[in-house]
Amino acid sequence: MVRRVCGHGWLAALVALAAATGAEGAGYRTANFIVDAPTPDQARRIGDAAEQYRHDLAIEWLGAPLPRWSRPCPIRAQVAPNLGAGGATSFVFDAGEVFGWTMTIQGSEQRILDSVLPHEITHTIFATHFRRPLPRWADEGACTTVEHPVERARQHRLLIEFLTTQRGIAFPQMFAMREYPADVLPLYAQGYSLARFLIERGGRRRFVAFVGDGLAGEDWSGALGRHYGLPDVPRLQGLWLDWVRQGCPAPPTASIAAATPPVAGDWAARARGQSPDPTPAPAAVAALPGRRSIYALQARHAGSGDPSELPAAVGQTPALPSAAGPASANVRW
Ligand SMILES: [Zn+2]
Repeated sequence: MVRRVCGHGWLAALVALAAATGAEGAGYRTANFIVDAPTPDQARRIGDAAEQYRHDLAIEWLGAPLPRWSRPCPIRAQVAPNLGAGGATSFVFDAGEVFGWTMTIQGSEQRILDSVLPHEITHTIFATHFRRPLPRWADEGACTTVEHPVERARQHRLLIEFLTTQRGIAFPQMFAMREYPADVLPLYAQGYSLARFLIERGGRRRFVAFVGDGLAGEDWSGALGRHYGLPDVPRLQGLWLDWVRQGCPAPPTASIAAATPPVAGDWAARARGQSPDPTPAPAAVAALPGRRSIYALQARHAGSGDPSELPAAVGQTPALPSAAGPASANVRW
């Protein structure tokens, strides 16, 4: 039996959990959720949004809605204008089943509805689909890709900070992580960036297929080859770093829609031939085939999200990381 906890904004969530204990809340019940929030209207809006995300995001990631859970997932929501956004979802894997859901979320109502809730709901979709723990980078990274562009832009800024201060994580080490490292924020920032990199090239469903394949055989390089045409994890790290240095340019539409995985050399050639896209994330994500749902509305409302310009120091000191080196080696520029 494995109890799994998503610690998105985990410190804040622990505060929320403590604060929620004994709080007088208003309840709202949907098919799959029981929401406890400060007011009846908030509980209703959160519950209805949770159902909508559960439906829409399952279609995006898996191609079909999830069946109804045998027991609803309780959601405890702390809602206040100046409350830091965060959430935590725990559940239990046992004998191929998942149950015992608990979700706590906190923040302003807007941030709960546009970021925390879709993030946490995506964790429940992955848990229901895979019925086993995912590597943390893939789990947190993919869940962050459905957050509001402002939140994703924040992760990108943090990523640049981590990569320029020796807090990056070498991919072979990151792919082997089953739990959160002591220095947890780089895992979120890097996991998000890599998930975005892969999803922009193959869509969400290919990403899910890739993770499932990698999990099944614990052969991530083999899975990269089968789903993305890449030779191995260190080579992926190199391509990803090149992409980040270039400002995360959106891939050509043709490579997103391609039915067959591109080859690694093709990727590199395309990346070098492009200039940085000043507004990469929202436009690229919104343009993905099959884009729909509440989340698409967010992307349209948000305007420019991820900053594309790297600090000058990044471009000036492009020392390649030693991806094939010791597992403890940090990614650095
Ligand atoms: Zn999470």
